[in-house]
Amino acid sequence: MKNKIVVIGSSNVDLIMKMDRLPEKGETITDAGFFQVYGGKGANQAVGAARAGGNVAFVNCVGNDAYTPQMLENFRNDGLDIRFVFQETDIASGHALVMIGGEGNNYLSVAPGANYKLTPELIDRSMPVIDEAAMIIMQYEIPVETIKYVFRIAEAKDIPVMWNFAPARSFDLSYVAKTAILVVNETEAAFLCGQQVETDEEVELAAKKLQELGASLVIITLGKRGAFALSAIEKVAVPAFKVNAVDTTSAGDVFCGSFAVAQTEGKSLTDSLRFASAASAICVTRIGAQPSAPTRKEIDEFIGNNYVEKSHSIVI
Ligand code: ADP
Repeated sequence: MKNKIVVIGSSNVDLIMKMDRLPEKGETITDAGFFQVYGGKGANQAVGAARAGGNVAFVNCVGNDAYTPQMLENFRNDGLDIRFVFQETDIASGHALVMIGGEGNNYLSVAPGANYKLTPELIDRSMPVIDEAAMIIMQYEIPVETIKYVFRIAEAKDIPVMWNFAPARSFDLSYVAKTAILVVNETEAAFLCGQQVETDEEVELAAKKLQELGASLVIITLGKRGAFALSAIEKVAVPAFKVNAVDTTSAGDVFCGSFAVAQTEGKSLTDSLRFASAASAICVTRIGAQPSAPTRKEIDEFIGNNYVEKSHSIVI
């Protein structure tokens, strides 16, 4: 049976400055701390899935800059199949410039760079690995026409697509019907449904609306409140594990990657959600995007050692 997870998406070099307060317009802050880590939703999900035990290929386009060789080396070290990570020589890889001030305020600016060179033509060249896929995962940091093209190919080849609709931007919602697993956080759910998504009732209502748009399984992640899932036959509310969260960057990405691994291993919906909750709970106890994704051993030990309230699973 096929078990390959093919993540088609972005990679970024994250350049982060931490300071007591953000600068005013025209002001220079002179005592910031600097960190460089690797991120990008596609890469985070691919790395998250590989560390969680998945057989993972990453389809991406990187550029030509001083940070990219190390990024590729990291992918190899995590065991990713990067035969179809393409490299453009006349552009930089995607970069995120982050300024974090006091009280959690930040400035964030993303230059998509080579991520926007991942064209339908490169998807055609990636067909050998797409043909091996048990599941495709996409996000929303690559060109719209590429996402639509992958949806059409996946439909023709009968490959289920997990779509993490993030970051939220307008899109042709008829494509939701081509989604096997739609994963959104509360903000993205609110964007898609055009309603507030805060209370339990609003979460369930939003999930129903997304189901009516045609997604086979809808998952709404709720930060430290856990996650809610709705399929045609089941609705499940999983509480989050109680941990000391220090940085929630990439929690949703680790959730998606590890959930895909559990599903391709044939785990039930409830067990897959619990596995993903454990992986993302570990992730929030660590700083940075890719550095914080846990290994399979860490996830299994965490589940063995940590009590979590029972999930509420209702067959509908
Ligand atoms: P995103 O990063 O996309 O906004 P969420 O913040 O909803 O996604 O987090 C995704 C998942 O990570 C949650 O469903 C939960 O399982 C886990 N998680 C997030 N924040 C915490 C936290 N503070 N404690 C424990 N688990 C968390």
